Amino acid sequence: MNVLVTGGAGYVGSFSVRLLERSGHGVWVYDNLSKGHRGAVAEDRLIVGDLKDRQLLEKVLRDNQIDAVMHFAALAYVGESVEHPAAYYENNVVGTLSLLEAMRAVGVGRIVFSSTCATYGEPTEAPITENEKQQPINPYGFTKLVIERALADYANAYGWGYAALRYFNAAGASAEGEIGEDHQPETHLIPIILQVALGQRQHVSVFGDDYPTPDGTCIRDYIHVDDLATAHLAALDRLDSGTEMKLNLGTGQGASVHEVIEACRRVTGHPIPTEVSERRPGDPPTLVADASLARQTLDWQPEYTDVESIVESAWRWHQSHPNGFGD
Ligand code: UDP
Repeated sequence: MNVLVTGGAGYVGSFSVRLLERSGHGVWVYDNLSKGHRGAVAEDRLIVGDLKDRQLLEKVLRDNQIDAVMHFAALAYVGESVEHPAAYYENNVVGTLSLLEAMRAVGVGRIVFSSTCATYGEPTEAPITENEKQQPINPYGFTKLVIERALADYANAYGWGYAALRYFNAAGASAEGEIGEDHQPETHLIPIILQVALGQRQHVSVFGDDYPTPDGTCIRDYIHVDDLATAHLAALDRLDSGTEMKLNLGTGQGASVHEVIEACRRVTGHPIPTEVSERRPGDPPTLVADASLARQTLDWQPEYTDVESIVESAWRWHQSHPNGFGD
């Protein structure tokens, strides 16, 4: 299959590109490099372009006889989305509509979409099933939910097949340590802890230790990016016309901020000093996936089932690339 991967130079996107290539698919990456890294993908596969450039998208889809799209390109910082919602609606919603209309013009009707557990907001149940009400509490989550709705409407009206994959906390790096997580600025817990182990930061701020959880810190479901990539390919393989998949992707195991820090201490041998600070606005106490529907539907299961093995892979990457991709 010929697949266009938007945002393929980003974190989850680049892992999916690699897996698509290894599985024998024809792959083209479409990325504006605002967040993605040139070094994360092969130069001859990369098309530098913006989602809102519909003409270029149509040309790329047509010229390369694209059969399906994996859509990762998006702004994805919760805090930033609260401060600058316009950028999120513009990039994520308007940008995606441009992509969908380019696909419609060319007759490509299959798409795997990178959605998020942030569409659930503050869920009432743990673990979270797909039946949980989607009530996002920040603009980022809203933009992803709007796109999910648009896909459902396109599927209904135009017979498209789509998968909306709602990730929990993507983490880890490739087993060989040559691609991994590199966000500017870095806000994610595991890279921040490992930057302390590398001597790039003095301590980790623990954002609140008075949550209603066993050790008072927030619980999240960390899932390895290679496992996310495997699920994307499995979804792609099952995308017939009219197929609608809305699936949670997580391990089903929660780990608290303290537990993640402990795992990083064991893996790195570094004491990793911590300081408790204010809660971060918009952080629900617990987000853990019930991913049984994805396991059944995709015949898939995560290979990395504990945080320590995820951290081990991340540590290899951060040690060999202390400045990320260096771009
Ligand atoms: N967190 C923290 N200190 C940090 C970064 C994150 O205590 O420097 C906490 C954050 O409050 C959340 C968890 O770690 O409970 C995971 O945060 P991250 O930003 O990695 O992912 P999110 O859950 O926001 O997608």
